[in-house]
Amino acid sequence: MATATAVFEPTVKISATKLLINGKWVEAASGKTFATINPSTGEAITKVAEADAADVDKAVAAARAAFEKGPWRKMSASQRGQLMHKLADLIERHGDELAQLESLDNGKPYHVARAADLPLTIACYRYYAGWADKIQGKTIPVNGPYFCYTKHEPVGVVAQIIPWNFPLLMQAWKLGPALAAGCTVVMKPAEQTPLTALRVGELALEAGFPDGVINLLPGYGPTAGAALARHMDVDKVAFTGSTEVGHLIMRAAADTNLKRVTLELGGKSPNVIFADANMDEAVEGSHFALFFNQGQCCCAGSRTFVEEKCYDEFVEKSVARAKKRTVGNPFDKSTEQGPQVDQEQFNKVMSYIESGKQDKAKLVAGGHRVGDKGYFIEPTVFADVQDNMKIAQEEIFGPVMSILKFKSIDEVVERANKNMYGLAAAVWTSDITKAHAIADGVRAGTVWVNCYDVFDAGAPFGGFKQSGIGRELGEYGLANYTEVKTVTIKL
Ligand code: NAP
Ligand code: MG
Repeated sequence: MATATAVFEPTVKISATKLLINGKWVEAASGKTFATINPSTGEAITKVAEADAADVDKAVAAARAAFEKGPWRKMSASQRGQLMHKLADLIERHGDELAQLESLDNGKPYHVARAADLPLTIACYRYYAGWADKIQGKTIPVNGPYFCYTKHEPVGVVAQIIPWNFPLLMQAWKLGPALAAGCTVVMKPAEQTPLTALRVGELALEAGFPDGVINLLPGYGPTAGAALARHMDVDKVAFTGSTEVGHLIMRAAADTNLKRVTLELGGKSPNVIFADANMDEAVEGSHFALFFNQGQCCCAGSRTFVEEKCYDEFVEKSVARAKKRTVGNPFDKSTEQGPQVDQEQFNKVMSYIESGKQDKAKLVAGGHRVGDKGYFIEPTVFADVQDNMKIAQEEIFGPVMSILKFKSIDEVVERANKNMYGLAAAVWTSDITKAHAIADGVRAGTVWVNCYDVFDAGAPFGGFKQSGIGRELGEYGLANYTEVKTVTIKL
């Protein structure tokens, strides 16, 4: 691990810390607030209003009224698209400020937020803005003297519960298709990272979104989040986060009004390296696949399967690369890795490192915390990991690479699939046959060949198995925000 230098001071002013309900910024009904923490220091940045069930009731009522009666309902589809374009423009104009806020609240390096999170967020709003007036049904040649057509109508009032790893981007993935389809939204940002979501709320009001279309409720999962998932007047809940909470969300929907459920959950994605790959690209790509965003990616390449013939070389080069990774202040230009998001995630990652050691995986890089303040962890690499070890089976969500050895294609496909998750996979090879064998064989929603974490607003993303239900992004993501209505007319 290397240390970083060349720091700049964030200049961002925090303006939005309350709940956004029906176009107004309000305190929580309980009057409660909670602190949002800077993970680089462990100190509070500011206090934010804490929503609970009473605020959820108000926000859902506002979203319902906006959906049924408000100007949003009567607006043309292209006008909806124009509002979304305005929001994208405002986010672009305030890009520096939003990237600073994201970095302060989440701990990700500022220059990464500026170069990755912001452009992807803006592109997502623009992509879905373009869809707003292109959502259309079909005419169906039914039997008899009838004219039959379908309409794709908005699913209604949507609850959206998002995580802390990509706060701005997850907000865009959720708001984009919902608004394009004409839904209204009550969103709960993650308790760790409410600040950018709230700032985007201010920009949405500035763009001119009518009251009640976007409601934002910072607060905790078991209170505000659970109240949303249980609410009888919510038509759909879209959730991104842990598989454990995904089960709770689905149960809440089943026990109440059968609201539609889409889930974007965890992963333990296999990243397969064959000996015929360009080894330097495979090493760098696999490093990125695991360590990007402090290892806090649902699709992280967290089972690095390496062919026996190139195993020693790959391990040696990956260790050297991990040791070179710069860890430190997110506002330092040379920082590649900031802190984990909070104390709980820090403890969880450190306990997985302990578990790897106890299971006798070979610790070949890192393994310790960095400094004595904030939640920094050394880029850590375990070699000789076995399939039955906890670090090979469970989602670590931190900067811990697990390298496993394999011999044949059939073997690696079988082992890759022996896991409850199925979010993503990748393969590094110069042999098209091997690339296809992995792309065909793995049960995962996304497969990358000789690349990793390539995202586009138009390309669907989501999980097989317990990695989720439904897809986000692209046309498939949009379809999850509409109901199909069939109309038949006697001629
Ligand atoms: P989490 O609890 O699943 O949090 C995700 C969101 O769900 C947050 O907004 C959270 O609120 C909310 N939530 C929590 N309990 C809820 C409930 N009973 N009903 C409704 N909403 C609820 O995830 P976490 O605790 O932050 O992280 C735990 C693990 O989840 C991580 O280590 C990682 O493995 C996984 N994770 C996956 C992703 C992903 O992108 N798929 C993202 C984050 C975490 P709070 O803010 O109060 O927690
Ligand atoms: Mg925070």
